[in-house]
Amino acid sequence: ARVLEAREVSLSFGQTPALRGASMSVATGEILAVMGPSGSGKSTLLHCLGGILAPDTGEIHFAGRRIDTLRENARAALRRDRFGFVFQFGQLVPELSVEENIALPLLLRGARRSDALNRARGWLERLDLAGLERRRSGELSGGQAQRVALARGLVADPDVLFADEPTGSLDSLAGERVMDLLVTAAREQGTSVVLVTHDPRVAACADREIMVRDGRVTYGELVAS
Ligand code: ADP
Ligand code: ADP
Repeated sequence: ARVLEAREVSLSFGQTPALRGASMSVATGEILAVMGPSGSGKSTLLHCLGGILAPDTGEIHFAGRRIDTLRENARAALRRDRFGFVFQFGQLVPELSVEENIALPLLLRGARRSDALNRARGWLERLDLAGLERRRSGELSGGQAQRVALARGLVADPDVLFADEPTGSLDSLAGERVMDLLVTAAREQGTSVVLVTHDPRVAACADREIMVRDGRVTYGELVAS
């Protein structure tokens, strides 16, 4: 079943059209790779799907309800309660420890601090980060930071995880490791994943791929309902 769908979505930044009638959907538990040239609108599509940006025209539907017309506070609640995000830059709070960063989505949902930190620590072993729980995130290597960001995106068991170049700054071995973790976690949790990537090896881990060109989805738009 489709969990998330964009219908004829358009959005311009001033005079610059970023999306021009983009339509696509993702199914429950599906890992979808979003490919396409730089500047084609992939990040903007992700931001519209994730309720970060509201399109100028068109519709976004999530779990059977239209979300692009929700007020900002309702969209913020949706992002907090149902979605997870892993972006390439600026996602960790450098002053917070590794375990606090991972626990953040749970704390924002109102979990008890001790419970949230326990769940966060559960991710560390699995990500080969055991022993780093109290380390400040600003002191991590790029590869470690990327795995921490992944854990933070998945810790609250989101319906949909949005990942924009999650392996972007990593060499291929570390990138493969991040993808393995993402795919395994998504499979175990039944999470849908919308994954922007330029890397064909990353896309090969997905169930399906779509192609964005000039603000439109030109290939593989829709899954069967
Ligand atoms: P990518 O091609 O990997 O999406 P970009 O360099 O195009 O990376 O964009 C990186 C970030 O900068 C995005 O969050 C995007 O919204 C923002 N951005 C891209 N183009 C512009 C622009 N012309 N003015 C302001 N922000 C931009
Ligand atoms: P992609 O992710 O495929 O690289 P983006 O969605 O980042 O593409 O950008 C699509 C178009 O919108 C590009 O022309 C980009 O420069 C422009 N753009 C993206 N974000 C912004 C922004 N915040 N301000 C102005 N222009 C932007």
